Amino acid sequence: ELILAIETSCDETSVSIVRGGREILTNLIASQIETHVQFGGVVPEIASRKHVESITILIEQAIVEAGVSLGDLSAIAVTQGPGLVGALLVGVVAAKSLAMALDLPLIATHHIAGHIYANQLVHEIKYPSVALVVSGGHTELVALESEGSFRIIGCTRDDAVGEAYDKVARALHLPYPGGPHIDRLAVEAEEEIMLPRAWLEPDSYDFSFSGLKSAVLSVINQANMRGQQLDESALARGFQASVIDVLVTKALRAVHAEGAQQLLLCGGVAANRGLRAALAARCEAEGIPLLVPPLSLCTDNAAMIGAAAHLKFKHGEFSTLNMKAEPVLSLEEWSVAR
Ligand code: ATP
Ligand code: MG
Ligand code: FE
Repeated sequence: ELILAIETSCDETSVSIVRGGREILTNLIASQIETHVQFGGVVPEIASRKHVESITILIEQAIVEAGVSLGDLSAIAVTQGPGLVGALLVGVVAAKSLAMALDLPLIATHHIAGHIYANQLVHEIKYPSVALVVSGGHTELVALESEGSFRIIGCTRDDAVGEAYDKVARALHLPYPGGPHIDRLAVEAEEEIMLPRAWLEPDSYDFSFSGLKSAVLSVINQANMRGQQLDESALARGFQASVIDVLVTKALRAVHAEGAQQLLLCGGVAANRGLRAALAARCEAEGIPLLVPPLSLCTDNAAMIGAAAHLKFKHGEFSTLNMKAEPVLSLEEWSVAR
Protein backbone atom coordinates (compact mmCIF):
# COMPACT_ATOMS: atom_id res chain seq x y z
CA GLU A 1 0.00 0.00 0.00
CA LEU A 2 1.04 3.63 -0.44
CA ILE A 3 0.64 6.01 2.50
CA LEU A 4 1.04 9.77 2.19
CA ALA A 5 2.22 10.96 5.61
CA ILE A 6 2.33 14.46 7.09
CA GLU A 7 4.38 15.64 10.08
CA THR A 8 4.07 19.16 11.58
CA SER A 9 4.40 18.59 15.34
CA CYS A 10 7.23 21.06 15.94
CA ASP A 11 9.49 23.04 13.64
CA GLU A 12 9.80 20.73 10.64
CA THR A 13 7.13 20.60 7.93
CA SER A 14 7.45 17.21 6.28
CA VAL A 15 5.53 15.15 3.72
CA SER A 16 6.48 11.63 2.70
CA ILE A 17 5.13 8.80 0.62
CA VAL A 18 5.95 5.35 2.02
CA ARG A 19 5.20 1.94 0.50
CA GLY A 20 4.33 -0.89 2.87
CA GLY A 21 5.71 0.90 5.92
CA ARG A 22 9.26 0.31 4.73
CA GLU A 23 10.09 1.84 1.39
CA ILE A 24 10.48 5.63 1.18
CA LEU A 25 9.42 6.99 -2.21
CA THR A 26 9.98 10.56 -1.06
CA ASN A 27 10.58 12.29 2.27
CA LEU A 28 10.51 16.09 1.93
CA ILE A 29 11.46 18.18 4.95
CA ALA A 30 11.24 21.97 5.25
CA SER A 31 13.12 22.91 8.41
CA GLN A 32 12.34 26.19 10.16
CA ILE A 33 15.52 26.22 12.25
CA GLU A 34 16.87 29.30 10.45
CA THR A 35 13.77 31.21 11.49
CA HIS A 36 13.77 30.13 15.14
CA VAL A 37 17.52 30.37 15.75
CA GLN A 38 17.32 34.15 16.28
CA PHE A 39 14.87 33.58 19.17
CA GLY A 40 17.00 30.86 20.80
CA GLY A 41 14.17 28.31 20.55
CA VAL A 42 10.98 27.38 18.73
CA VAL A 43 8.32 30.12 18.77
CA PRO A 44 4.99 28.24 18.51
CA GLU A 45 3.01 30.94 16.69
CA ILE A 46 5.73 31.38 14.08
CA ALA A 47 6.02 27.60 13.68
CA SER A 48 2.30 27.34 12.84
CA ARG A 49 2.51 30.12 10.25
CA LYS A 50 5.52 28.55 8.59
CA HIS A 51 3.75 25.19 8.38
CA VAL A 52 0.83 26.90 6.64
CA GLU A 53 3.24 28.44 4.11
CA SER A 54 4.94 25.12 3.29
CA ILE A 55 2.38 22.36 3.59
CA THR A 56 0.49 22.61 0.29
CA ILE A 57 3.67 23.03 -1.73
CA LEU A 58 5.26 20.01 -0.06
CA ILE A 59 2.22 17.81 -0.69
CA GLU A 60 2.23 18.71 -4.39
CA GLN A 61 5.98 18.23 -4.61
CA ALA A 62 5.86 14.85 -2.83
CA ILE A 63 3.37 13.48 -5.37
CA VAL A 64 5.58 14.64 -8.24
CA GLU A 65 8.83 13.37 -6.73
CA ALA A 66 7.39 9.98 -5.83
CA GLY A 67 6.13 9.63 -9.40
CA VAL A 68 2.69 8.54 -8.24
CA SER A 69 -0.74 9.99 -8.82
CA LEU A 70 -3.27 10.86 -6.13
CA GLY A 71 -5.36 7.89 -7.24
CA ASP A 72 -2.54 5.48 -6.28
CA LEU A 73 -2.66 6.43 -2.59
CA SER A 74 -4.13 3.99 -0.05
CA ALA A 75 -4.35 6.23 3.04
CA ILE A 76 -3.41 9.61 4.50
CA ALA A 77 -1.45 9.60 7.77
CA VAL A 78 -0.75 12.54 10.03
CA THR A 79 0.92 13.20 13.37
CA GLN A 80 -1.93 13.70 15.84
CA GLY A 81 0.38 14.40 18.80
CA PRO A 82 2.21 14.98 21.01
CA GLY A 83 3.52 18.37 19.90
CA LEU A 84 2.67 22.05 19.66
CA VAL A 85 -1.08 22.25 19.21
CA GLY A 86 -1.09 25.05 16.60
CA ALA A 87 1.61 23.28 14.63
CA LEU A 88 -0.15 19.89 14.76
CA LEU A 89 -3.39 21.50 13.67
CA VAL A 90 -1.92 22.57 10.32
CA GLY A 91 -0.99 18.99 9.45
CA VAL A 92 -4.26 17.58 10.78
CA VAL A 93 -6.37 19.98 8.71
CA ALA A 94 -4.34 19.26 5.57
CA ALA A 95 -4.63 15.49 6.12
CA LYS A 96 -8.38 15.63 6.73
CA SER A 97 -8.91 17.72 3.60
CA LEU A 98 -6.95 15.25 1.49
CA ALA A 99 -8.68 12.23 3.01
CA MET A 100 -12.08 13.77 2.42
CA ALA A 101 -11.35 14.97 -1.12
CA LEU A 102 -9.80 11.66 -2.19
CA ASP A 103 -12.16 9.51 -0.12
CA LEU A 104 -9.24 7.76 1.60
CA PRO A 105 -8.84 6.39 5.12
CA LEU A 106 -7.23 8.74 7.65
CA ILE A 107 -4.64 7.45 10.11
CA ALA A 108 -3.97 9.54 13.24
CA THR A 109 -0.40 8.72 14.20
CA HIS A 110 1.64 9.04 17.39
CA HIS A 111 4.83 11.07 16.96
CA ILE A 112 6.93 8.87 19.25
CA ALA A 113 5.68 5.67 17.59
CA GLY A 114 7.02 7.37 14.46
CA HIS A 115 10.46 7.98 16.00
CA ILE A 116 10.60 4.30 17.06
CA TYR A 117 9.35 2.89 13.73
CA ALA A 118 11.86 5.03 11.79
CA ASN A 119 13.99 1.95 12.44
CA GLN A 120 11.64 -0.16 10.32
CA LEU A 121 12.54 1.94 7.26
CA VAL A 122 16.10 0.58 7.35
CA HIS A 123 16.14 -2.43 9.67
CA GLU A 124 14.18 -5.56 10.50
CA ILE A 125 12.73 -5.15 14.01
CA LYS A 126 12.54 -8.35 16.07
CA TYR A 127 10.32 -8.81 19.10
CA PRO A 128 10.50 -8.42 22.01
CA SER A 129 12.63 -5.30 21.72
CA VAL A 130 13.39 -2.24 23.80
CA ALA A 131 13.52 1.29 22.35
CA LEU A 132 15.46 4.17 23.87
CA VAL A 133 13.72 7.36 22.73
CA VAL A 134 15.87 10.47 23.15
CA SER A 135 14.56 13.68 21.63
CA GLY A 136 13.89 17.34 22.32
CA GLY A 137 10.72 16.59 24.27
CA HIS A 138 11.02 12.93 25.31
CA THR A 139 13.34 10.55 27.12
CA GLU A 140 11.73 7.13 27.38
CA LEU A 141 12.47 3.43 27.53
CA VAL A 142 9.74 1.57 25.68
CA ALA A 143 9.16 -2.19 25.64
CA LEU A 144 7.88 -3.57 22.33
CA GLU A 145 6.45 -7.02 23.04
CA SER A 146 5.12 -7.39 19.53
CA GLU A 147 4.65 -5.22 16.47
CA GLY A 148 2.83 -2.01 17.35
CA SER A 149 2.57 -2.70 21.08
CA PHE A 150 4.12 -0.08 23.34
CA ARG A 151 4.73 -0.26 27.09
CA ILE A 152 6.62 2.58 28.75
CA ILE A 153 9.02 1.22 31.33
CA GLY A 154 10.75 4.48 32.16
CA CYS A 155 10.58 8.16 31.35
CA THR A 156 12.05 11.46 32.46
CA ARG A 157 10.65 13.03 35.60
CA ASP A 158 11.68 16.52 34.53
CA ASP A 159 13.69 17.67 31.49
CA ALA A 160 14.00 15.63 28.33
CA VAL A 161 17.59 14.91 27.40
CA GLY A 162 17.53 17.16 24.31
CA GLU A 163 15.99 19.91 26.40
CA ALA A 164 18.80 19.56 28.98
CA TYR A 165 21.36 19.79 26.16
CA ASP A 166 19.71 22.92 24.81
CA LYS A 167 19.54 24.58 28.26
CA VAL A 168 23.18 23.82 29.06
CA ALA A 169 24.17 25.10 25.62
CA ARG A 170 22.26 28.30 26.22
CA ALA A 171 24.08 28.82 29.55
CA LEU A 172 27.35 28.48 27.61
CA HIS A 173 26.10 31.04 25.03
CA LEU A 174 26.08 28.45 22.24
CA PRO A 175 23.53 28.78 19.39
CA TYR A 176 20.19 26.91 19.31
CA PRO A 177 19.80 23.95 19.01
CA GLY A 178 22.71 23.39 21.35
CA GLY A 179 22.98 19.58 21.35
CA PRO A 180 25.43 19.29 18.44
CA HIS A 181 27.65 22.08 19.87
CA ILE A 182 27.92 20.41 23.30
CA ASP A 183 28.59 17.10 21.56
CA ARG A 184 31.48 18.66 19.60
CA LEU A 185 32.99 20.36 22.67
CA ALA A 186 32.70 17.14 24.68
CA VAL A 187 34.34 14.97 22.05
CA GLU A 188 37.25 17.43 21.60
CA ALA A 189 37.77 18.11 25.33
CA GLU A 190 41.05 17.17 27.01
CA GLU A 191 39.80 17.49 30.60
CA GLU A 192 36.57 16.47 32.27
CA ILE A 193 34.76 18.21 35.12
CA MET A 194 33.13 15.41 37.13
CA LEU A 195 29.38 15.85 37.58
CA PRO A 196 26.76 13.78 39.45
CA ARG A 197 24.63 11.00 37.92
CA ALA A 198 20.92 10.80 38.72
CA TRP A 199 20.33 7.05 39.16
CA LEU A 200 17.08 7.53 41.17
CA GLU A 201 15.77 4.39 42.98
CA PRO A 202 17.87 1.26 42.32
CA ASP A 203 15.14 -0.50 40.32
CA SER A 204 13.89 2.60 38.48
CA TYR A 205 14.07 3.04 34.71
CA ASP A 206 13.14 6.70 35.05
CA PHE A 207 15.46 9.59 34.27
CA SER A 208 16.08 13.03 35.74
CA PHE A 209 18.26 15.69 34.17
CA SER A 210 17.32 18.84 36.04
CA GLY A 211 19.77 18.18 38.91
CA LEU A 212 22.58 17.71 36.42
CA LYS A 213 21.57 20.92 34.65
CA SER A 214 21.68 22.77 38.01
CA ALA A 215 25.13 21.31 38.71
CA VAL A 216 26.34 22.66 35.36
CA LEU A 217 24.87 26.11 36.07
CA SER A 218 26.51 26.17 39.49
CA VAL A 219 29.95 25.42 37.99
CA ILE A 220 29.42 28.31 35.55
CA ASN A 221 28.27 30.68 38.32
CA GLN A 222 31.18 29.82 40.58
CA ALA A 223 33.69 30.48 37.81
CA ASN A 224 31.99 33.82 37.09
CA MET A 225 31.96 34.85 40.75
CA ARG A 226 35.62 34.05 41.20
CA GLY A 227 36.50 35.71 37.94
CA GLN A 228 38.04 32.45 36.73
CA GLN A 229 38.26 31.30 33.15
CA LEU A 230 35.80 28.41 32.68
CA ASP A 231 36.97 25.32 30.78
CA GLU A 232 33.79 25.01 28.72
CA SER A 233 34.80 21.88 26.89
CA ALA A 234 35.68 20.10 30.16
CA LEU A 235 32.24 21.05 31.44
CA ALA A 236 30.54 19.87 28.25
CA ARG A 237 32.45 16.59 28.51
CA GLY A 238 31.41 16.13 32.15
CA PHE A 239 27.77 16.83 31.30
CA GLN A 240 27.77 14.48 28.33
CA ALA A 241 29.52 11.73 30.31
CA SER A 242 26.85 11.88 33.02
CA VAL A 243 23.99 11.79 30.51
CA ILE A 244 25.48 8.90 28.54
CA ASP A 245 26.39 6.87 31.62
CA VAL A 246 22.80 6.92 32.87
CA LEU A 247 21.15 6.38 29.46
CA VAL A 248 23.40 3.48 28.50
CA THR A 249 23.25 1.74 31.89
CA LYS A 250 19.45 1.91 32.17
CA ALA A 251 18.87 0.96 28.53
CA LEU A 252 21.00 -2.17 28.82
CA ARG A 253 19.40 -3.10 32.14
CA ALA A 254 15.98 -2.81 30.46
CA VAL A 255 17.12 -4.94 27.51
CA HIS A 256 18.12 -7.78 29.86
CA ALA A 257 15.05 -7.46 32.09
CA GLU A 258 12.72 -7.60 29.07
CA GLY A 259 14.63 -10.37 27.33
CA ALA A 260 14.85 -8.06 24.33
CA GLN A 261 16.42 -9.27 21.09
CA GLN A 262 17.47 -5.78 20.06
CA LEU A 263 17.93 -2.26 21.34
CA LEU A 264 16.45 0.47 19.12
CA LEU A 265 17.83 3.98 19.47
CA CYS A 266 15.77 6.87 18.09
CA GLY A 267 14.95 10.60 18.33
CA GLY A 268 17.07 13.66 17.54
CA VAL A 269 19.59 13.06 20.33
CA ALA A 270 20.46 9.74 18.64
CA ALA A 271 22.69 12.01 16.52
CA ASN A 272 24.96 12.37 19.57
CA ARG A 273 28.35 10.87 18.72
CA GLY A 274 29.26 10.09 22.31
CA LEU A 275 25.95 8.30 22.94
CA ARG A 276 26.14 6.26 19.73
CA ALA A 277 29.71 5.19 20.46
CA ALA A 278 29.01 4.26 24.08
CA LEU A 279 25.84 2.32 23.23
CA ALA A 280 27.52 0.55 20.33
CA ALA A 281 30.41 -0.51 22.58
CA ARG A 282 28.16 -1.79 25.39
CA CYS A 283 25.81 -3.59 23.00
CA GLU A 284 28.74 -5.19 21.20
CA ALA A 285 30.25 -6.34 24.51
CA GLU A 286 26.94 -7.82 25.63
CA GLY A 287 25.96 -9.33 22.28
CA ILE A 288 22.87 -7.16 21.80
CA PRO A 289 22.15 -5.92 18.26
CA LEU A 290 21.78 -2.11 18.27
CA LEU A 291 19.52 -0.54 15.64
CA VAL A 292 19.93 3.16 14.85
CA PRO A 293 18.25 4.94 11.92
CA PRO A 294 20.40 7.19 9.70
CA LEU A 295 20.60 10.75 11.04
CA SER A 296 18.09 12.08 8.51
CA LEU A 297 15.46 9.71 9.96
CA CYS A 298 16.34 10.45 13.62
CA THR A 299 15.11 14.04 13.54
CA ASP A 300 11.49 14.86 12.73
CA ASN A 301 10.32 13.62 9.33
CA ALA A 302 7.12 12.28 7.78
CA ALA A 303 8.57 8.97 6.55
CA MET A 304 8.68 7.74 10.14
CA ILE A 305 5.01 8.70 10.48
CA GLY A 306 4.24 6.65 7.35
CA ALA A 307 6.15 3.71 8.86
CA ALA A 308 4.14 3.84 12.11
CA ALA A 309 0.83 4.45 10.29
CA HIS A 310 1.41 1.22 8.35
CA LEU A 311 0.83 -0.70 11.62
CA LYS A 312 -2.67 0.78 11.89
CA PHE A 313 -3.32 0.30 8.18
CA LYS A 314 -2.62 -3.43 8.49
CA HIS A 315 -5.24 -3.71 11.23
CA GLY A 316 -7.75 -1.42 9.50
CA GLU A 317 -7.66 0.98 12.44
CA PHE A 318 -8.65 4.30 10.91
CA SER A 319 -9.72 7.66 12.34
CA THR A 320 -12.82 9.64 11.61
CA LEU A 321 -12.79 13.18 10.28
CA ASN A 322 -13.64 14.33 13.84
CA MET A 323 -10.11 13.43 14.95
CA LYS A 324 -8.37 16.27 16.80
CA ALA A 325 -4.78 17.38 17.24
CA GLU A 326 -3.68 16.30 20.74
CA PRO A 327 -0.72 18.16 22.29
CA VAL A 328 -0.59 15.39 24.93
CA LEU A 329 -1.20 11.86 23.66
CA SER A 330 -0.53 8.47 25.26
CA LEU A 331 1.83 6.14 23.37
CA GLU A 332 0.58 3.02 25.18
CA GLU A 333 -3.03 3.74 24.22
CA TRP A 334 -1.95 4.17 20.62
CA SER A 335 -0.83 0.50 20.52
CA VAL A 336 -2.55 -1.59 17.83
CA ALA A 337 -5.44 -3.76 18.97
CA ARG A 338 -4.54 -7.43 19.34
P1 ATP B 1 9.89 15.37 20.34
O1 ATP B 1 10.12 14.34 19.29
O2 ATP B 1 10.13 14.84 21.72
O3 ATP B 1 8.60 16.08 20.18
P2 ATP B 1 11.67 17.07 18.82
O4 ATP B 1 11.05 16.37 17.68
O5 ATP B 1 11.67 18.53 18.86
O6 ATP B 1 11.03 16.50 20.18
P3 ATP B 1 14.04 16.05 17.76
O7 ATP B 1 13.88 16.89 16.54
O8 ATP B 1 13.87 14.59 17.66
O9 ATP B 1 13.14 16.60 18.94
O10 ATP B 1 15.47 16.34 18.39
C1 ATP B 1 15.93 17.66 18.61
C2 ATP B 1 16.83 17.64 19.83
O11 ATP B 1 17.99 16.85 19.55
C3 ATP B 1 17.32 19.02 20.22
O12 ATP B 1 17.14 19.17 21.61
C4 ATP B 1 18.81 18.99 19.86
O13 ATP B 1 19.63 19.79 20.68
C5 ATP B 1 19.12 17.53 20.07
N1 ATP B 1 20.33 17.11 19.35
C6 ATP B 1 20.54 17.12 18.01
N2 ATP B 1 21.80 16.70 17.73
C7 ATP B 1 22.38 16.39 18.93
C8 ATP B 1 23.66 15.91 19.33
N3 ATP B 1 24.61 15.64 18.45
N4 ATP B 1 23.87 15.72 20.66
C9 ATP B 1 22.91 15.97 21.56
N5 ATP B 1 21.70 16.44 21.26
C10 ATP B 1 21.43 16.65 19.95
MG1 MG C 1 12.83 19.32 15.64
FE1 FE D 1 10.36 14.49 17.32
